[in-house]
Amino acid sequence: METRMETVGLIGGMSWHSTATYYRVINEVVAAARGGHASARIALQSLDFAEVRDCQVRGDWDGAAELLAEAGRRCVGGGATAVAICTNLMHKVAPQVEAAIDVPLLHIADAVAAEAGRHGWGTLGILGTRWVMEESFYADRLARHGVAAVVPGAAEREAVDTIVFDELTQGIVRDASRTAYVDVIRGLADQGAEAVVLACTEIGLLVSPEDSPLPLIDSAEVHARELGRVALGELTVA
Ligand code: GLU
Repeated sequence: METRMETVGLIGGMSWHSTATYYRVINEVVAAARGGHASARIALQSLDFAEVRDCQVRGDWDGAAELLAEAGRRCVGGGATAVAICTNLMHKVAPQVEAAIDVPLLHIADAVAAEAGRHGWGTLGILGTRWVMEESFYADRLARHGVAAVVPGAAEREAVDTIVFDELTQGIVRDASRTAYVDVIRGLADQGAEAVVLACTEIGLLVSPEDSPLPLIDSAEVHARELGRVALGELTVA
């Protein structure tokens, strides 16, 4: 009998369309490693995204932080020995979530930077919500690992953010939006990006590597893969 797996805590539901990706990928990693009926031990707290979105729109980040912190505590109550926030944007409140729990948080940008490092990419274009592209919390975390970031211009950032919230987080996937994203990626290549991070966990549902003129890092995919390794006990979160 192999050693008992660790329980990973997921603060999800932001949106559920991407939390489904996490659930699948973590289980795929575990099944590939252990075979048979093995599946991941997961403590999932799936929030009502309407409540979180309402806080975002009102700029009530303290309120949002409390929703996520409470979910983090419930993950730990459910046995989680490490916790993850299953969205890039809500890492804006990662410090408050970390402060609320006594187990480590696996930061999504650390997983992204690790993937960039494996490929030797030093400059990433960022596609995500406006706060991820415009504020420093995400780029600063990448910079800790020696990864630089470039972002699209103002009009493109607006278009990318609108597609996230009017379509992707509601499960809507449109060809015209894919084309728009590919154009933005072309612009990031002109700005010196060696690859692009899909720094919104739903963008991988719209844009695939074969659509893209630059290599892609899908934040949901790489974060979930690391969580699979945490579940297996192969990776310890610092
Ligand atoms: N899932 C998105 C992200 O990764 C945005 C949804 C949200 O958390 O507001 O940033």
